[in-house]
Amino acid sequence: MTAPVLQLQGVVKRFGTTTVLDRVDLSVSRHEVVAVIGASGSGKSTLLKTVNLLERIDDGRILLAGDDVSDPRADVDATRARIGVVFQQFNLFPHRTVLDNVTLASRAVHKVPRAEAEATAEHWLQRIGLGDKLKEYPDRLSGGQQQRVAIVRAIVSDPELLLLDEITSALDPQLVGEVLDLVTELKTAGSTILMTTHEMQFARHVADRIVFLQQGRILEQGTPAEVLDAPRHAETRQFLSRLQQH
Ligand code: ADP
Ligand code: MG
Repeated sequence: MTAPVLQLQGVVKRFGTTTVLDRVDLSVSRHEVVAVIGASGSGKSTLLKTVNLLERIDDGRILLAGDDVSDPRADVDATRARIGVVFQQFNLFPHRTVLDNVTLASRAVHKVPRAEAEATAEHWLQRIGLGDKLKEYPDRLSGGQQQRVAIVRAIVSDPELLLLDEITSALDPQLVGEVLDLVTELKTAGSTILMTTHEMQFARHVADRIVFLQQGRILEQGTPAEVLDAPRHAETRQFLSRLQQH
């Protein structure tokens, strides 16, 4: 039996005296897509950052394919090389072309030869309709195009786990669809994804499991139908009904 791709066991994160993650237990299996939902400030981004070791945890353990990556002795760079990350802001290098942006990490971190890295990148960029933008600089692309480049950059090294944090929040509404379509495609291709989102219809469509976070605690989790259509907790119902009013 192989270990889940990701396991959080009793994860606690505090900022000063504030507990932002409160004994979080969460597991993500291979090929599974898990969406974390919850109010602003509930700890969603912090949760993803602890997995990528951008925030160190105060208690508990984080296992990546069975390896304890939260062990202070574990190699942070080696762990990060196994995880693809996309944040709300696109974070592309402005002075690098699209092709360089996509290939830099695979060349530097994964030591993939330039020609091979560029061939993989071109394949993906063509597949998402940006084959004619290889030599373009990020500021010449739309927000949706930039975010799709950021996603391609995160997946070209074939990471074991993909972390997506509110990747459509900074986009104009008409550009959201093209980014969500790419994530749906990645799911179909078998990616393992832990994401946060405010797009409930998207979460319903793409997630195998939805996790509702409330003040740093997992209040409930289940299939989209269970959590979105028949939430067991009043707090979940309140959160969902507030979203519908906007
Ligand atoms: P979400 O992504 O769900 O909106 P966050 O994980 O960003 O929530 O934040 C959870 C809580 O942790 C918030 O109260 C936030 O103010 C606090 N927080 C996040 N990052 C820091 C930090 N670097 N220092 C202090 N407090 C922080
Ligand atoms: Mg956040």
